[in-house]
Formats: sequence, structure tokens, C-alpha cells
Amino acid sequence: MRPQSLKAHLALAFGIITLILTLMLGLIIGRTTTRQVQRDIGHSLAELAFQMSDKLDRGMFERYRDIQIAATLNVMRNPAADPAERRALLEKLQDTYPDYAWIGFADPQGSVQASTKMLLEGVDVSQRPWYQGALQQPFVGDVHEAMLLAKLLPNNTGEPLRFVDVSVPVTSQQGAPLGVLGAHLSWTWAQEVEHSVLKSVEDRNAIEMLVLSKEGNVLMGPAELRGQTLKLRSLQQAQQGVNSYLIEEWPDGKTYLTGFSASSGYRSYPGLGWITVTRQAVDAAFTPVTSLQQQIFFVGSLTSLLFICVGWIMAGRIARPLLALSSAARRIRQGNMSAQLPVVPSYTEVNVLSTSLSTLVSSLLQHEAELQSLNESLEQRVQERTEALTQTNAELTREISERQRVEQEREVLIKQLKQLAETDALTGLLNRRAFFGLAEREMKRTQRHDLPLAVVIFDVDRFKQINDTYGHAIGDQVLRSVAHVCQSLARDIDILARYGGEEFVLLVQDADEATAQHVAERLRIGIMQTEIPSDSGPITATASFGVAATRTPISDLAPLLQQADAALYEAKRSGRNRVVVHQAEDALALDAAPFDGVGSA
Ligand code: GH3
Ligand code: MG
Ligand code: MG
Repeated sequence: MRPQSLKAHLALAFGIITLILTLMLGLIIGRTTTRQVQRDIGHSLAELAFQMSDKLDRGMFERYRDIQIAATLNVMRNPAADPAERRALLEKLQDTYPDYAWIGFADPQGSVQASTKMLLEGVDVSQRPWYQGALQQPFVGDVHEAMLLAKLLPNNTGEPLRFVDVSVPVTSQQGAPLGVLGAHLSWTWAQEVEHSVLKSVEDRNAIEMLVLSKEGNVLMGPAELRGQTLKLRSLQQAQQGVNSYLIEEWPDGKTYLTGFSASSGYRSYPGLGWITVTRQAVDAAFTPVTSLQQQIFFVGSLTSLLFICVGWIMAGRIARPLLALSSAARRIRQGNMSAQLPVVPSYTEVNVLSTSLSTLVSSLLQHEAELQSLNESLEQRVQERTEALTQTNAELTREISERQRVEQEREVLIKQLKQLAETDALTGLLNRRAFFGLAEREMKRTQRHDLPLAVVIFDVDRFKQINDTYGHAIGDQVLRSVAHVCQSLARDIDILARYGGEEFVLLVQDADEATAQHVAERLRIGIMQTEIPSDSGPITATASFGVAATRTPISDLAPLLQQADAALYEAKRSGRNRVVVHQAEDALALDAAPFDGVGSA
């Protein structure tokens, strides 16, 4: 999950806290206010019920007293009084109070003698409760519908006419009964009283008022309840003389705040035990609470939003220096060491953090600079050392190659010297000294392997004569030619050398005298057949050969060479250009084909 910003956190926290506070406040205020409103409305309902009850009682008392006073007047107590006089009195009385629907005087037989508007005069009312009840003492009759007067009185209320009766006995001055004076009080009076009571209440539309008989019969109230007998806890309490309020369910299933009060009469008026009830539906009663709660929630929600905004702004202010610090830190981390940590004038914690970070960064920077300079000096030293080493290396290499060159030159020189030391300058053959070195080695080898060995010594015939005849240079040329021919005809394993002057020697390895003779013969023919160019045409030379061979191993070459030399001498003596073989043991001489002297081609 993406981490939330401090701003969002704080703003949300502010909002949530405010919302929770609002909810709590709303609930607490709601509860408290509900209780308060309940008590207030309850008390005011009870008060209204009491006022209604009291006014009804006072009203009834006044009618009760009116009728009693009227009954004591002379015109009523005089047995001989004119009915018209009595009627005039009664009508006067009715004029004083318009709610008197009818006032009449009935004689002891129950026949109406005088009445307002002459209504019911002559009618027998002896069986009417108001007449019966007032024969002995004053009577108050509860609400009833009009029986006899219903058709006679105007009625524009749309409801049946109802009355409350007040009647008193009338006696003569002597105390003889003269009849009953009775009045029907229109029940609309109670509704007027109700209006006057409810006038003081602002929301009287929501408040309903009922008047019930002491048995619980609805005498006045909403049309759907009129005439019904109710059984409510509030009625029971009212009957016990309590004036208070209750919350209770009514037969319509709704719950009402119900105020109640029972009539207890007024002064001489004993009262009929009416119960006055005021009610207001709980929903309606608590409307102000609900609207208050709604207002609280509305204002709370607005406040929450406001606080979210405030939180947002405050968090922005709190976060701004932190953000500046962290972005500077990020730049530093990305390698921008020159990035400055901002000095933001803000709260202490950020200042402390900023200072600490600055110190940290500057110490880091210092360390880095130190490291960098150390690194640079190290690099310089390494470079210097490397350069020195490279130079030394180059010098060494140069010296090594120089030495190698000198060594090579030396080796070449040594080789050349060795060659010079071992080689005859004129012919390029081995010289006498080199011959003896090599011949000694070969002799030892043949000795080890028990092999035969032979030497051939040959000498150019009459060479002095060649020199003398063709010049010394041609003589040299002849010597070179002889050397060349013999080198090419001799076997590779055999050792050919210039023995001295115009004399050559050949060591023939692993060869008996026959082989050696054969070799010598081949050389002799080769020399003889080779032409050497000169100013006076090509010339040829011959050579005489002395061969000595041994089958038994020898430890010294000299005797063999002496034998070969002796054989050579013999070859010279016996005519030259021939091969003479001396067996080492017997010094036998073999004659070759006769050839004498130097011939020209
Ligand atoms: P023989 O048949 O008896 O051998 O007669 P020869 O003339 O060959 O013998 P001699 O010993 O009288 O002569 C040898 C001569 O060879 C003498 C010398 O001047 C000559 N000689 C020796 N060495 C060289 C050389 O290197 N070059 C030349 N051109 N002549 C040489
Ligand atoms: Mg010679
Ligand atoms: Mg010679």
C-alpha cells in the first residue's frame, strides 16, 4: 500500500475526531434534551390539563351559583307570581351568559311553567333527571344529548346538541316546594374554554385536549374518541387526584405524552369528577429534539469538513519544513553534495532535526573531502610509482635485449672464431688441428664398438709445377677445386681436412682397406676429371693417395697416419696419380692404374 502523507493523516484525524465529537455531542445533547423536553412538555401538558379542569370547575360554579341566586329571587319564590314575570327573569339571565341554551321553571307536577323563548312550556319534564335530581337539593347533571330541545333549538354545529344540567329546588318564603328551576348549559361552552386555554400554547395544533367523565367516557375530544370509554393509566392516576404527565400508548397505537388533571369542584360546587387530559404525540413533541440533533449533526459535519481543511492546512505547515528537509536529504543522497539543508523558521523539533542533519551532512562532507584528498594523493603516489616502475622496466627490457644482442653477437663471434680456428681459410675444409680433434673422438667411438677404421692421405701431384706454370692464384684455385670435389664425393660420416700445403687427409669410418681404397679411388678419379679454368684454357690435376686401415681397435691415430703417409710416399714413388693401400699390420701396397704427372685437358 502506498504510504499516506502526513497531511492526509492529520486532516483525516482532525475530521474523524470532530465527527466522533459531533456524534457524541449529538447523542448526549439528544438524550439530555429529550429528557428535558419530555419533562417540559409533560409539565406544560399537566399544567394545561389543570387549567382546563379549573376553568371548567369555575365555569360550572358560576352557573351553579347563577341558578341558585335566581331561585332565591321573589319572583321565583312567590307562588302567585305571573309566569310572564318569571320568563322575563329567566331570559334576562340567559342574556347574561349566551351558553345557557335553555332555562325553565317546572311546577311541583313537573310541568314547565315558564322558560326562555317559551320553549317546552306546558311540557311534562317530571321524568327528566334534572327535575328529579333537584326536588330536594341543587343538582348538577353530566353531559347528555338533547332529548326534548333537539328539534326546537337552532343547531349549526353539525353535531348533536349536548348539555350540562344545573337545577335547584324552588321554595316559597314559607318553605313550601314550588317546583324546580333548571338550566341546560350548552356543551360547546367546554370547547370555548378549551380554545381559551390552548390559546396560551404556541403549538396548540399539535396538542389535543379531552374531557372525560369520571368513568372515563370521552365527553369532549377528537371525533374518533368521542363517546368511547378509555382505560388509561393516566386516567387512573387522575382519579386518585394526581395532576401530572405520563408517556403512554393510546388505543390508536401511537405513543403520546399525556398530561392529566381531575376536577375537584370549586367552593360550593362539588364537581362532576371530570378528568381533563392533554396529549401530544411523542413524535411531534420531540420534533425540536430531532431537529436540534439534525442541526448538531449538520453543523458537526460542516465543522468536520472545516477541521479537515484546517487539518490539511496545519498539516501542510507542519509537513512543509519536513518535506523541505527530506527533499534536500534526497538531493544529497543522489550525490548533490552541495545541496543545502534549508533553515526553515518553524517549530523546535524541526529546528533540532535540521541542525542535526546539517551537522551530520557537513561532517560527512568533510570526511568525504578528506577521503577524496587522501585518494587523490594515493592515486598520485601510485601513478608516480607506476611511472617509475614502467621506466625501470623499460630500462631493464632495453638492457636485457642489449645483453641478448651482445650475447648473440658474442655467440656469433665465438662461432666465427671457432669456425676460423677449425677451418682452413683457403679451401673451407677443416684444418689440421680440427681434424685431429674430431678424428680422436671417432677413433674412440670405433674403439668402443670394435669397428674397423681407415685413413687416406693424398697430395696434389707436381703442384709446384702448377704454381710455376699458371701462377699462385690458379694454384689456390686448384686447391679449392680439389677440396670441393673431394668434399662432394666423400661420405657424410667421413672427416675430410686440409693436412697441409697441397696435402689432404680423410678419415674413413667403419671401413676396411677395401672400402677405404674404393673411396680413395673415387676421389682420385673425381680430381682427375675436374677441369679448372685458367688463362690458357682449362687445366686438370691429379693426386696420389696413401691408404692405411686397421681391423683391430687402436688407441693412437699417429701410427695409422704414418702408415698412410708411407703408402702415399709409395704412390708418389711408384708413378703418382694412384692409390697405395697399406694394411696396418703388413703394409701391403696395391698398385692402381698407372698415371704420371700433371696432365692438361
Ligand atoms: P711432387 O709430385 O713430388 O709432390 O711434386 P711437387 O711439386 O708437388 O712437390 P713440392 O713439395 O716440391 O712442391 C710443393 C709446392 O707447393 C711448394 C709450394 O710453393 C707450393 N705450395 C705450398 N702451399 C701452397 C699454397 O698454398 N698455394 C700455392 N699456390 N702453392 C703452394
Ligand atoms: Mg707435397
Ligand atoms: Mg705435391
